[in-house]
Amino acid sequence: MAIRKVLVYPDKRLREKAQPVERIDDSVRRLLDDLAETMYAEPGVGLAAPQLGVSLRVFVIDLKSPEGGELLEFVNPRFLSREGEITWKEGCLSFPGISEEITRHGRVSVEALDRNGKTFTIDGEELLAVAMQHEYDHLDGRLLIDHVSFLKKRMIRREMAKLAVERGATTDAEAG
Ligand SMILES: [Zn+2]
Repeated sequence: MAIRKVLVYPDKRLREKAQPVERIDDSVRRLLDDLAETMYAEPGVGLAAPQLGVSLRVFVIDLKSPEGGELLEFVNPRFLSREGEITWKEGCLSFPGISEEITRHGRVSVEALDRNGKTFTIDGEELLAVAMQHEYDHLDGRLLIDHVSFLKKRMIRREMAKLAVERGATTDAEAG
C-alpha cells in the first residue's frame, strides 16, 4: 500500500474518460489499496482512480473517513437507478479548499464489481448517494466545477490558479 499524490485541478488528466477494468488482478487490488490509503491520509470520503492519474473505472468511498467505517470499493460501476434530488455542500480532493452546494439525485442504486470480481449492488441515500455520483463523475472526467454557475466557475478557477502559484505547481491550464 502507498499514499499517492492526488492530482489537482486544472490538471488535464482529470478530464480523461477512464477505461473499464478488463481483468481484476493484483494490480487492480493494489490500486484499490492505494486509493483507500490515500483517501484516509488526505482525508476525504471518496477517491477515484483518475485523481491518482490512473485512467481506470475504479473508486473507493468511506463515509467515516479518516477514522474508518465501512470501506466501499467499486470497479466498473454503473447506475441501475437514479431518483429524487438532494443538495449537498461538496468538496473534492482535487479542489483543495473549495466547497460548493451541488444538486444531484437523492437516491441511487449502483452495480459494480468488488476486488474479487464479484458483482454487487448498493443502494445509497444522502451522503452515500452524493459520494457515489461525485466519484462516478470522475470516471467520465466530470468535475465539481461543472455543476456550478458561471460566476462560481470563475471564482473557483481563480482560487485554483492562486493555489497553483502557492504550490509552485506547473500544470497545463484548462481551456474554457
Ligand atoms: Zn472529487
